[in-house]
Amino acid sequence: MGFEQFGIVSFTGVTKAEQFVEFLKNNELRGTVCAQCGAKFFPPRADCSSCLSDQMEWFPITGEGALISHTKATFAPAGFEKDVPYRLGVAEFADGIKVFGRIDGTLPDEAVKAGMKVKVRMLDLGEERLTYEFTAA
Ligand SMILES: [Zn+2]
Repeated sequence: MGFEQFGIVSFTGVTKAEQFVEFLKNNELRGTVCAQCGAKFFPPRADCSSCLSDQMEWFPITGEGALISHTKATFAPAGFEKDVPYRLGVAEFADGIKVFGRIDGTLPDEAVKAGMKVKVRMLDLGEERLTYEFTAA
């Protein structure tokens, strides 16, 4: 049970932040916060890039975010060929936490706009794999 369960293609099975997947199973997206200096990170980091501490804790990313930017992928990297076209976006949540992810493919093109309110939801991809995506809040 580890990070290899995250996403459509996992590039690593082992990470110091693999607890991320356990939180995702409970429908929680979490980042890490430095216990020394309070810097917050997403994707989660096991070590603080601000003060170099390894004293990191988890915090949930909840509520509504605002979509900052988005794009539609029509060519896919290896492993994602079956998924095109799909949308990717960056959304900003509380405390300026920026999250990169896919956008709900059932949303019509005209509904996806910079500034739209989004929330994160867990997606079960089957075969014991999971990920998250943005959907309209
Ligand atoms: Zn720190």
